[in-house]
Amino acid sequence: MTNSITVAINKKLHDIIQLNPFDAVAILKFHDGHCSVEMVNTSATVLFNTQFTAGMDAVVFFKDAHWNQLQPCLNKQGEMHYVTLQNAKQIVVNMQPVTTSEGSYISVVMRLITNDVTAALEAQIETAKHLYFVEQYVDPVISLDLNGHIIYANIAAANKLAILGNQILGKSIFELIDEEYVGQFGPLFRNTLEGYPMGMPQCVLKNKMFSEEPVCLKTFPTYWDGKVIGAHIVIKNVDEFFNDREHHHFIVYQDELTGLFNRRALNEQWTMYSERQHEMNIALILVDLDRFKKFNESLGKNKADGMLYEVSKRFGQLRNEFCEVFRYNGDEFVFLVRYYAREEVEVIANEILRVLLEPFVVEEQEYFITASIGIASSVVGQPLELDKLLHRADQALFYVKNHGRSHYRFYRKEMSQAFPNEALIEAHLRRAIEFDELAVHFQPQIDLVTNRIDSFEALLRWNNKKFGAVPPSQFIPIAESSGLIIHIGDWILERVFQYQKEWRELGYRPVRIAINISPKQFKQEQFVSKIKHLLETYEIEPEFVELEITEGSMTNVHETSSILRHLKQLGVYVSVDDFGTGYSSLSYLKTYPIDIIKIDQSFIADIEKDKKNEAIIKAIILLSHNLGLEVVAEGVEEKNQEQFLKNNNCEKVQGYLYNKPLPVEKVIEQYFIN
Ligand code: C2E
Ligand code: CA
Ligand code: CA
Repeated sequence: MTNSITVAINKKLHDIIQLNPFDAVAILKFHDGHCSVEMVNTSATVLFNTQFTAGMDAVVFFKDAHWNQLQPCLNKQGEMHYVTLQNAKQIVVNMQPVTTSEGSYISVVMRLITNDVTAALEAQIETAKHLYFVEQYVDPVISLDLNGHIIYANIAAANKLAILGNQILGKSIFELIDEEYVGQFGPLFRNTLEGYPMGMPQCVLKNKMFSEEPVCLKTFPTYWDGKVIGAHIVIKNVDEFFNDREHHHFIVYQDELTGLFNRRALNEQWTMYSERQHEMNIALILVDLDRFKKFNESLGKNKADGMLYEVSKRFGQLRNEFCEVFRYNGDEFVFLVRYYAREEVEVIANEILRVLLEPFVVEEQEYFITASIGIASSVVGQPLELDKLLHRADQALFYVKNHGRSHYRFYRKEMSQAFPNEALIEAHLRRAIEFDELAVHFQPQIDLVTNRIDSFEALLRWNNKKFGAVPPSQFIPIAESSGLIIHIGDWILERVFQYQKEWRELGYRPVRIAINISPKQFKQEQFVSKIKHLLETYEIEPEFVELEITEGSMTNVHETSSILRHLKQLGVYVSVDDFGTGYSSLSYLKTYPIDIIKIDQSFIADIEKDKKNEAIIKAIILLSHNLGLEVVAEGVEEKNQEQFLKNNNCEKVQGYLYNKPLPVEKVIEQYFIN
């Protein structure tokens, strides 16, 4: 914090005194090894019960016994000291050098600790640093309570605003800020009360001189007993703002949107921690919000940002002296935790999941956010670099994402072998076709009315030389984000048509094959003509081709309608996959020419566990039938699920109860050769 305050005129010493409405303050001066007291405030005279005259001896003012305790603090200026007075009162003392044109002084700021909070003291000294820092400021300062009411303004502030200090007491800060800037100030003030010092590079304050000179504001939370009790606002000239190292610090280390510390702050914090790695365990918890992209897509950036702000607020509640949170990247957060036992880290990981349970409300609609969490630790005796920790946490996170999301995992060695990073997977995936590593498997769909099997779903399989079988849930998202899905998607389409032709030539009975189409593929300009071309080339009747699309393909009504209409003209079937997991699914059924809906596995898994889900399934089936659509239930694993679906007239089922997706030879063996 500030080590030396250089001020131009002696009058500024008064300001230092004025700036400390809550504390006892004395200004000391040294001459010839002799220490005198130049100035004090009333609180100081009360605290030491002394009649003050300017220039009196420090030993006299503070009294012998106290002075003996205070004197050693002079050698450690800028630090907090804990002193017990003769009357058993305890105080926190902070001494700072002050340089004025008249010479050098030392300010002594003393805060009385009223109740016996010895244990809490250390923590408080930590947080009190902000306060002392602000208190020693000679710039205009306004203090606010939690509601934004002005409880104090120093002389400099009164001068700046051309009003008497006590005339603005009790007023709301929002009355003081020009209308144009109020909107910007609101969130900034909220963040400050959450414990984050903030900065506003430009603002105009209403003042008696009607000057519109822009100023900049810096806000600091004020603490009492470890809790935020309000905020200080320091007013600076705009040009001073950027030269101010102290505050620069906060701007540089703060994430603009959320007010949390940013990635740079994480590096900084780590530098501090790394010196103590031999004596403490540190866990890095990497948190990634599940499928956050869909909020960006469906709600727009502003509202999604609003959600991130809310999430950050909840995460901010988990901060304490052992746990700090950083916004790492878009929707990724990092918690750094100092701990003794691993359970402490688990508690925090669970807390992170817990604070997200409450819905997030955007325009009166409730939304739910879940997070996946990967954890890596640097433990005493086996210290790790930040990079390494991040990498491991990322691998653990990756594992979680591929195992159902929405939970946490500690890094294990096997993860780095089985789950390499995304970049590596992408690199291998680029060569997958060339190296002949891809295959199509087929899962049968059972007609519950006739018990016949005359349709299958084609599912992609990737067997990589290095990583072995990589599940689609792991590589499809990478293929999507890298654009490789177009190339791979073309390959699957071609492959399925080839099989159809081969089977036909071998005299097998015709079956319908459903092919998963990714949104990127679906939205390609030539998509419809591609399908047309395949139908013609392989001479397959369109009724044996089904295209499974997801909600992600149907974001633009106009575009979607047009593509679907053209597909209808070709005569192929279109189904909606993972039905029920999106937002406005039901309206699709009416808007688009769709033939089949596939009820998502998650609903089926909850049959007999969740009555609400059962009601949803019934409603989906009923509605679909009314609209003339066929219904396929996915992920059927148990007899009772089948029974429920039968009772509710679901016509088709697919799932492990009947068969897993099978390689081509098996399909032929089991379903085509009798
Ligand atoms: P999906 O389209 O919802 O496919 C159904 C998934 O459920 C398949 O996982 C299937 O193996 C699995 N499954 C089938 N029956 C059961 C069951 O009874 N219980 C459980 N728990 N699971 C069952 P798979 O093959 O791992 O594929 C995962 C996802 O990857 C697919 O979900 C699909 O979104 C994507 N995918 C797979 N192949 C392709 C493809 O060729 N192209 C595209 N774009 N995506 C594909
Ligand atoms: Ca599917
Ligand atoms: Ca599905």
